[in-house]
Amino acid sequence: MTKPRNPRPVSNQKAPEASKPVAPFKRIPENPPSAKRPEGRDSKRNPHAKTSSAVRPRPNLERTGSERPRPQQEKPPRPGFGSGSGALVNRRAADRLRSGYLWVYASDIETLSLPDAAAPPALMPVADSRGLLLGTALYSPSSQIVLRMVSREALDEAGWLPLLASRLRQAIARRKPMLSDQNDACRLCFSEADELPGLVVDKYGDLVILQLLAKGLDSDAVRQTCVRVLREELAPSAILERPDPRMRELEGLSAPSAEPLYVKNSKAATASTQFHLNGLLFQYDANSGQKTGAFLDQRTNYAAARDWAQRLGATGRALDVCCYQGGFALHLAQVCRQVTGIDSSRASLEVAERNFEANRGRCTAQVDWVDADAFQILRDWSDAGETFDAIVLDPPAFAKSQRAVEGALRGYKELNLRALKMLRPGGLLVTCSCSHHVGWAELEASVASAAIDVSRRVRLLERRGAALDHPVVLNLPETEYLKCLVLEVE
Ligand code: SAH
Repeated sequence: MTKPRNPRPVSNQKAPEASKPVAPFKRIPENPPSAKRPEGRDSKRNPHAKTSSAVRPRPNLERTGSERPRPQQEKPPRPGFGSGSGALVNRRAADRLRSGYLWVYASDIETLSLPDAAAPPALMPVADSRGLLLGTALYSPSSQIVLRMVSREALDEAGWLPLLASRLRQAIARRKPMLSDQNDACRLCFSEADELPGLVVDKYGDLVILQLLAKGLDSDAVRQTCVRVLREELAPSAILERPDPRMRELEGLSAPSAEPLYVKNSKAATASTQFHLNGLLFQYDANSGQKTGAFLDQRTNYAAARDWAQRLGATGRALDVCCYQGGFALHLAQVCRQVTGIDSSRASLEVAERNFEANRGRCTAQVDWVDADAFQILRDWSDAGETFDAIVLDPPAFAKSQRAVEGALRGYKELNLRALKMLRPGGLLVTCSCSHHVGWAELEASVASAAIDVSRRVRLLERRGAALDHPVVLNLPETEYLKCLVLEVE
């Protein structure tokens, strides 16, 4: 077992032997062009801007009586926002909202009525250009996503808070059957997918982490409502708010208090705990790590990777590329002889090592962690003729916008090509993309193209998505982002 150690040059690195722990590597600064991280703000751009007519056909108004345009004589007066605030949206946005979509982009707003711009409201009514009410939305003055619908009705704050409470209760009720001693962490509320745009709530053991990712949610009343429901439903030991720095900037959110929103026992440590996924134990620290702390969406894919490795007999050497805190690696370590996890974040690898220590009794493999750039090290190892029985590729979202898809696909192809080169015949490739903008067909085409280039045949065993606590809503394409292909490499 090797902890991340001092870096040394990569060029002459060999992949670890089962008997020889690997020395961790220096990070290689330059990525191939394909590996460039996407620009921050792009994910907030209108993903339909270029492709709207091709990708998202307008609803057929003839077939939905309630959506038929009103006859001329019934034409309502111009929007009745009175002295209050409100937004009129263009036809494209209105059609989308009527077909179940929840966002309105800045470019689709025709008129914004804002009597007091210095004190923008959390909620505002939204109407189409003829003044027909489409519903009520959370308002984000500084974001590209200006409106997030919370109701098809007119709603004021007095009506919104009880609605928020009841939707959060429903979201939790949907997760409760998924929770057990073996799985005591999950996403309790997944924003739009639970009809609560901007609200993410994750449970890690006895801690609950709240993220308020839309300006309209950034209020004490919303915090108190969430805390009340979470306490009543789950009796956690603490509830903490954890900011998402990028969303904080995009939405202009206030700095969350360093104090917990709720703590049962003021003397106990509140920011750290442990949680279980598929029976394995993981460390949690609310003040570090990525996302809210872990990639809970991969939970069922961890188990699938382990089970497929066993089923295929791919239980020799395994590689977890972009391993973060070791989710896939530790599951593979239950069935494989030797597992190597690669990540460019040393801090993540240190937690991965602690996680491995906590599960020694449940893992049979020898495990190594390597601090390196995935593109560089896979190129070096595949050129050096290293071989593995099972490889997992779970890189960060390469395409955070439609514009970044082409580069992202080159990145996916490169990683898959290197992995395919290193896999033994009959080996297992689990390859993931968490970019909403990269669809199944595109991901599969890039893996297929990599397979052709290295003269390997791949058989699709399974197409998998995120765990069920990250539900996909068909009218909200953005809720389907995680794609996981399980492949046997002949
Ligand atoms: N598989 C992980 C989640 C991976 S998230 C899990 O299930 O928990 C993506 C990870 O890729 C992050 O940990 C990030 O630090 C790492 N990463 C990003 N760019 C990288 C690069 N170029 N090389 C290696 N790791 C990288």
